[in-house]
Amino acid sequence: MQVTKNVLDDAARRKMMAQFRSKDTKPEITVRRALHRLGYRFRLHRRDLPGTPDIVLRRHRTIILVHGCFWHQHDGCRDARMPRTRQDYWSAKFQRNSERDAKITAALTALGWRVLVIWECDARKPELASHLASVLGHAPGHAGLPSVKRPRRPDGPRATPHRPPTSRGIQRSHPRRSVPTGAD
Ligand SMILES: [Zn+2]
Repeated sequence: MQVTKNVLDDAARRKMMAQFRSKDTKPEITVRRALHRLGYRFRLHRRDLPGTPDIVLRRHRTIILVHGCFWHQHDGCRDARMPRTRQDYWSAKFQRNSERDAKITAALTALGWRVLVIWECDARKPELASHLASVLGHAPGHAGLPSVKRPRRPDGPRATPHRPPTSRGIQRSHPRRSVPTGAD
């Protein structure tokens, strides 16, 4: 009996661990979308940096870590409640996570990065975008009108020296001839 129970627990745990490890979690995608709408440029999961940080804004020298409230034990958050069973396991697990978080943050800070943590529960709030904008400051190349769609290359359509020059010449000489001169 005891053995069966443990096996099930392990399977459930493995499933949760897999979720924990997975990239592109829902709160992370929410934060990415908000950043994108605000006009920030960023890169994802840079393996060359300590901890493979979720979101890297090179121009702002800022790294955003999107933390799940449960796994990273968001202080005082209702989503960070300790499970009722296997508490020894969980507290050891949480302890390791928070040590790892501290180590990664220290390493990134030592490299000159500013580390910004966005908690899962805060990513759900409507003020996420204004929070990001106030922490990060001005997004380069963004006019501040999020609803206005701009051409992909602002200098594109006007400067087109590579249009075939012949087409114009043909058009000019032809229509003169083909225009009918009278009804009969
Ligand atoms: Zn939270």
